[in-house]
Amino acid sequence: MAEIVYVNGEYVDRKDAKISVFDHGFLYGDGVFEGIRFYKRNLFKLREHLERLYSSAKYILLDIGRSIDDLTELVIETCRKNDLDDGYIRLVVSRGEGTLGLNPYHCSNPGLIIIVSKIQLYPEEFYTNGLPIITASTRRFGTDTVSPRVKSLNYLNNILAKVEAVHAGVQEALMLDRNGLVVECTGDNFFIVKRGAVYTPPTYQGALRGVTRDVVIELAKKRGIEVREERMTLYECYDADECFLTGTAAQVVPVSDIDHRIIGNGRPGDITKVLMEDFNKVTTVDGVKF
Ligand code: PMP
Repeated sequence: MAEIVYVNGEYVDRKDAKISVFDHGFLYGDGVFEGIRFYKRNLFKLREHLERLYSSAKYILLDIGRSIDDLTELVIETCRKNDLDDGYIRLVVSRGEGTLGLNPYHCSNPGLIIIVSKIQLYPEEFYTNGLPIITASTRRFGTDTVSPRVKSLNYLNNILAKVEAVHAGVQEALMLDRNGLVVECTGDNFFIVKRGAVYTPPTYQGALRGVTRDVVIELAKKRGIEVREERMTLYECYDADECFLTGTAAQVVPVSDIDHRIIGNGRPGDITKVLMEDFNKVTTVDGVKF
């Protein structure tokens, strides 16, 4: 089955999907992106993802050059050309082709890429048994630098934290800010449960405002579960009754232990399980059908 990629105005086969070496997205990580998932031909929370893309682009003064409705149509069209019922979309907007200097105003047109493919972030066993994680020594960028809430093409910080996880023999790493407060994982938002309430670090601390994070907060509230966006240290995490991560690729994944401290009884907790189930129910419903 051919994989059709949208690259700067054209639909091409995967092997022909190429960009210029002068694209500032490649040269400088100058650009923004989204990871979007579709379930049974439902583009889950497409609008929310596109809104975040435009917010990220605005922050870096990148004019995407088309409306959110146009982009919606383009995403739908690319999905239709790829005959998949379930999959993952990587939507990239780069500064485009320019000169070798940093100046983004020397770039002509923004680059736009839509890849439709498959993804499985973590093996299935972690959804039943829980995922062990460690804390990375690489700190999350501070909110006094380029806002870490921008989903930019510059992921080196997260990659280095991910490498720490891999070297430790686990799949994911928790990242702290410079004050040692918990922010999020390398590609997922972070939640704990204590005495029946759900806690997650506030986004102003530098966590990405995850689309999945927002969905899970809503689902918990609908269940009458208290949700609090609160700053937390590793102490609260080690002492939690339950822990889970959220992300488009990861969905809702239970955490079994953090830095070798077993969370609860080391199995997915009751609230985590309920939220995983509720989440699975909305993925085919909330969004845009194609
Ligand atoms: N944090 C980071 C750093 C991410 O890159 C992502 C997306 N992979 C998330 C959190 C989760 O966000 P979302 O639920 O919108 O995918």
